[in-house]
Amino acid sequence: MLTTPSPKQLPRQVDPRKFAQQEVVLQGTLPLAELERLSALAAGDQAEITAELEFGVDDQRHRLLTGKVSAKLQLTCERCMEACDQHIEGELALGIVWDEEQAKQLPRRLDAWIAPEGVSDIYEVIEEEILLGIPMGVYHDHQCVDLAHYSVGGDDGADETAAPAAERRNNPFQVLEQLKGTPK
Ligand SMILES: [Zn+2]
Repeated sequence: MLTTPSPKQLPRQVDPRKFAQQEVVLQGTLPLAELERLSALAAGDQAEITAELEFGVDDQRHRLLTGKVSAKLQLTCERCMEACDQHIEGELALGIVWDEEQAKQLPRRLDAWIAPEGVSDIYEVIEEEILLGIPMGVYHDHQCVDLAHYSVGGDDGADETAAPAAERRNNPFQVLEQLKGTPK
């Protein structure tokens, strides 16, 4: 099995059934520009998207695609609206099937990849996996918005500009605390 990193770009079109039969292993990169939905979300052109793919056939004659995808790219931080580095990883475990009917018969551990005869677009499959891995809220790890903007009393009060309650409710750090599950 290949383990050395390769800068080679993955082919976009593959023949999944032929590859499964031949137990093809692919490793390579995908250009962000060719992933339409993902580039629409990205906050910059800088991205490193890689995939390690293994085609095969299991004991029950399921044609499989398994592997890992990794995407390092910039998304928009929902707190400061600036670009924010993200690393998204996903694992693929797909059964290559002809139709919905066959998809239903796959074991639970496999998702379905409904592929027609001949070549299919592997980039779409990988992009889908990356999109699923994007967190619900994207934020910088550091405090990217100055806390002073959100002082909720606690200082000596000399500088009391008394933010309206509505504004305080929008304090993104409170949102963050909720995400972390901090009890009140
Ligand atoms: Zn931020």
